[in-house]
Parts: sequence; C-alpha cells; structure tokens
Amino acid sequence: MVIAFVKISNLQSTKRVLSDDGRDKIDQQLTNEYPHFVENVHTIQSNKKLDVGQMISLVAWLKYYAQMYAFALNNDSREDILSDLNKFLTNTDTPFCSTLKLFIVKQILQICKLKLEDLRDIYVNRNLLWIKPFFQRSRDQQTTNVRQTIIPPMPLFQCRPQFLRIRQVFNNTDRNNQLRKIIQECNHTQELSYAFLCWFIEYYSRFTQPNTEIDADFIRIIQHDFGQDLIKSFTSFGHRFLIDLCSNFSEKSYFRLHSTMLPDDIHKRLLALNIVAVFISFKAQSEITLLGNILFDNQRQMPNSYVQHLSTICLPGLTISNIIISQMIYVRTRVQERLDQRIYEKFKVDYGKFIYQCSKECPWMFYFEDCGAPTTKSICSLCQKEIGAKGYNDLIVRDPPQLRIPNPDAFQKIDKYINQENQTIRFGYHDVKNINESSLGDKPDHLNRPVSFRFIHFLTHGLLQFLHDRNYLTDDDLKIRLKIPTNTHFRDHFENDYDLLCQTSIDPQQCYIWLYKLLNHLVDDEFTKKTVDNEITEYKKAHAEFIQKQQSLESFIDELFENEEHYPLLNFFNITTFHTSNPLDEFILKIQNLPFAEKTYPVSTYLLKRLDDYTNIQHLYPIITFSNYLIEKLNHRIKRIDAVQTKMIYYLTQDADQDITKKLFEDFLDAWYALTLKEVRYGCQTPKFEHVVSIVVSIV
Ligand SMILES: [Zn+2]
Ligand SMILES: [Zn+2]
Repeated sequence: MVIAFVKISNLQSTKRVLSDDGRDKIDQQLTNEYPHFVENVHTIQSNKKLDVGQMISLVAWLKYYAQMYAFALNNDSREDILSDLNKFLTNTDTPFCSTLKLFIVKQILQICKLKLEDLRDIYVNRNLLWIKPFFQRSRDQQTTNVRQTIIPPMPLFQCRPQFLRIRQVFNNTDRNNQLRKIIQECNHTQELSYAFLCWFIEYYSRFTQPNTEIDADFIRIIQHDFGQDLIKSFTSFGHRFLIDLCSNFSEKSYFRLHSTMLPDDIHKRLLALNIVAVFISFKAQSEITLLGNILFDNQRQMPNSYVQHLSTICLPGLTISNIIISQMIYVRTRVQERLDQRIYEKFKVDYGKFIYQCSKECPWMFYFEDCGAPTTKSICSLCQKEIGAKGYNDLIVRDPPQLRIPNPDAFQKIDKYINQENQTIRFGYHDVKNINESSLGDKPDHLNRPVSFRFIHFLTHGLLQFLHDRNYLTDDDLKIRLKIPTNTHFRDHFENDYDLLCQTSIDPQQCYIWLYKLLNHLVDDEFTKKTVDNEITEYKKAHAEFIQKQQSLESFIDELFENEEHYPLLNFFNITTFHTSNPLDEFILKIQNLPFAEKTYPVSTYLLKRLDDYTNIQHLYPIITFSNYLIEKLNHRIKRIDAVQTKMIYYLTQDADQDITKKLFEDFLDAWYALTLKEVRYGCQTPKFEHVVSIVVSIV
C-alpha cells in the first residue's frame, strides 16, 4: 500500500503561502498531489484495518492538503484543479468527507477571520457546489431556532441551578403559585434574584427578531398580579425594570430593540441591562454593601431622588486627577526601575540615592536622569519657582530651599501622601471627563491592571446610563446638579469603555461574552478574573449546552463538540492557526490582561516593556562588522594628519579594497537608518541621537 509521506519542511510559512509566488506553488502542489489525495481519502474511508502509524500519516497528509486547498479557495484561485476538487468533494458524501469539508470551512474562516454568516455571503455566488448544502444546513438550523444567533447574558456559571429552576417554573402550566414563592425568596437570596432578572433579559432579547409582538397578557401579570410581591423583593425600581424588559422599553429609549440593529449595538444594551440586574440583585444580600448602596439606601429601599442619593455615596471607577500624585507615582516608578536595573552602580557615585522635592511648602517631586546628579533646570508645575541645578551637581540655592531626600525616605513620603489622599472621601459623580480623556492605560494606584479600572468605570457608566435613560436622573439633574455638558455623556462613556475593553481582548468580536461572564461572577463572593480566551470558550460551550444546540454547525466550527457518527475523526482535524495578524500583538494583549503578570512571568514582562529597545539588536551586527573592519584596516596604518583629511568617499571609490568596503558600508548604512533609538548614552551624558551620515567621516 502506498502511503504518501508528509514532508514537514513542506509546511510553508504563512508569508510564503500568502505571497504571489506561494499562490502558484499551492496550485501546483494541489494539482500534482491530487491523485494521492483521492487515493488517501478512499483508503481512510474503506473499512480496511489501518495501524496507528498509517492512520497518523494519512490524517496528517490530508490535513496538509486540505489546508492548501483552503488557501487556494481563499485566494479565489481559478486553476482547473479547483473544479476537479469541487467535483470530487461534491460527489463524495460520506461521513469522513463531511469531517474534511468541515475542516476546510474552519480553515477558511481562520484564514480570512470572518464569521460564518459573512462567509456564506461571499461564497453563495461562487461555483462551489460542495459548500452549498453546508450553508443551507446551517440556515435551516437558524430558522428553527431563531434565537441562537445572538447570545444573551445568562447565569450559566454562578446561579445556574437557580436559573434552571426559574425556567422550569415559567414553562409550567401551573406557574402562578410557584412563581409567587420564587419571587418571595428573591427578597433574601441574591443568586435567585439575579437569575430571575436574567430570565427577563433573555426574554427581552426576543425583540431583536422581526415582528415580535408584545405579550400584553404577560405584562399585565407582571405589572398587576405579582406587582406587590415584585415590589417587595425588587423595589419599584426593579419592578419597573421587569415591566420595561417585557415591553421592550419606550419608543425613544436607548434600550428599545429593533430587528435592524447591529449585533454590537444589541450586545451593548444587553450588557448594560445585565449590569443593572447585577446591581439590583445586591438588594437581596442580608447587609447592604458598598455596591448595593449604589441603587439602594441603607434600608435596602429605592431612594426618593437618585441625584440626591448619588451625591452621598462613593461611585467606583472614577479617577482622581491629582497631578501631584501622578508626578509622585511617575518619579517612584522611574527611580525604582533604575534601581532595579542597577543603572546608578556603573557611575560609581551616590547621586542616584536621592529624590528631590521643590521645597518644604511645595510637594512637587522630581529626580534626575543619568547618574542622578542634578544637572538641569526647570520650573515647578505647582508653585512656578525654579527647580533643579545651575550646573553639574550644583543645586539652585533659594528660600525655601529645595529638599534632597534619600530614596527610602522619599518612597515612604510618597506612600503616606497617596494614602492620605485616598482617605479623602469623594462623593457622587465628582469628576466629569470628556471621553477623549479615557485611555487604555488609565488606572488608579491601588489597582493592578488598567483593564480592572476600565471594567469598573464601565459598570458605573452602564448604571448611570440606565438611570438617565429611565429618567431616574433627569436632563436637568445632569446639567444643573452634576454639571455634565452633554445629555449623552453617560452613554458616550459606556460605549467608549466597551470599545476600549474590546481592544484589550484578543478576540474583540466576542469580548461581550467575556464581559457577560465577568458580570456573572460579580454575583459570586470569590470574584476573581481569569484569562479572556478560556472564558469565551467556556461561556459559549455552556450556552450551547444550555440551549441544546450541540448539533449546530457553528458549535462544530467553534470546536465545542465532537460527533463521531456525523463527523468521524473530527478531533484530529482541529484547526491550525495561521497568524495572519501579528502574533506578538496578541501575546502582548494576553500578558497585559493577566493579573500580576510581573510576578508570574517576570522575564516576559521585562522583555515586553523594553521591546522597542531590543528590536534594535537585530541591526547591530552590520554596524559592528563595519566598525571592526575599519579598525582592523586602518589601525596604526594611517597617519593622524591623513585621518583628519581623508574622506570616507576615498575608501569607497579609490582604495584597493573598495569593493569589500563598499559592501560592508552599504549594509552598515541600512542598519544605521533602521535604528529607532532616540538618544544614546555616553558616560553620564545623553546626547540626542540623530541620523547624520557624516559621523562616519571622522574615523579617528
Ligand atoms: Zn513648587
Ligand atoms: Zn553624571
């Protein structure tokens, strides 16, 4: 029996595969290996007993061939071989061939980074017969189960049993008695309360489908029949929330769903409502907590006036813009970094052991670069007095004098100052900022990751957006009491935060799923953050299991399930990631989102922080080679007077070694201009680094 071997060296890198040259090679290889492909498919399908080695070779060979085919399809290649393959795949309707087709679809999706629906739109007009039933099948599944295209927030992890119980009760014919009991329990069980609210959010997500009528009967039951019980457990705030969810909010509301809405707009609304549900559920805790206090007063009741209430509580997620503290944090971080890198040691002086303060009366702190000695002069940002030095290590003398503080004392002083500042309580919405001022790097001193801060900021603004939309905060409240310039302020912040959070995710299109899961975990006491990609898969899997869509095409594409009968050997045909985007960017994002990454991965974080500097290393070789060559060539062989007068051009055009010199010089120039350094260090000076070719001229 012939088993074709896979040459591992044949597995081309993406770059080559995607280039024009690579395209021709793919078509060529597809054509040449086609007979083997047909033979190998037949062998694996035949019921002949194959040993493990044969099986592995066959699977590997077919995967490789199918990958090339996926690339060819993605390139929209028009070679004859493609129509041969099309015929073969169309006519081979076996379970194994389904696995192969599924693998090809997965591989195309991976290469072009599209969703299945978008791919369908592109391929529907192509003359590719085998793929059509595939799309048809997925479309049939969608019409039978309309709700599967959008994934609503559900308590699939925390509160899952409670959620199941509630679903059962709502599906029950004799639901009223049990429902009353559940509503009463919601008053003191947070998990049940959250699950109950989520059931209504899921119910509300039906309004994304066209022609969804409002169920007036159901609204009446919620509004009147259970009104008293619901108000008792959820306050009239929660009661109103449930009625709004059943009736798809009012015409002009932000939360009104339409069938024409973009998926991401739907996700934002579902997220905001999910946030509101989490915060309403805090009412069920036996003691009112910091988070519970945002919507309710100390008696766990809805306050009479929200603008009044908010002015008495601390809203999480607002930054304190205090330039003294930001400067202190900056100085502390930089000096600590320099100490860690032992930058001061090589100077053999003690100047680096000090941090400076403007004066006893002015808390502005600063430090000096290089060996740490005071060398430069500037103006204090706080009191406008001159700070720094007149000359090298010559502090400006004035009254009150500048303070020279030993590092450990200065660090203590900074900690004390920040602690004191943190104890000052700021109530209400105290810091109005334009959304342009939000950036991914923002975070207060006590949080480990900027993403944590962004998430909290997002929670607060989701809540405020809801309060404003439902008129708990009026336009006048915003303008007059909170001094907010625009009526869309909360909405803008909420949506901007959502975008920023998506940017921190390695899978921006599915970031909302990660956020659902985080919100779900907020209802848990031991709320800890995990990594993003696992969270998304976990949630999608739990969701798919929950709505029993195991057999849908999407879940096979997402590799959530396997089915040996319909797709034999599918577990071997897992996707091969071709990095069409920069894998390094993805890696950096991952590390940035890991809590305490500096401790867990000290080397990686160290390297990533200085990545820009290290990219210069690759250019050093030609520079050193050329310098060494010149030293070698000219050392002691040239008189001082000649060295001053001879120009580089002489060695490039008239010297006996001009060919060698020229080659090395060109390599040197390429490398020299590729350097991204902004400044260089020489001794304890830091001259600016500019690209001046003439530097080379003065050789000696
Ligand atoms: Zn000052
Ligand atoms: Zn110095």
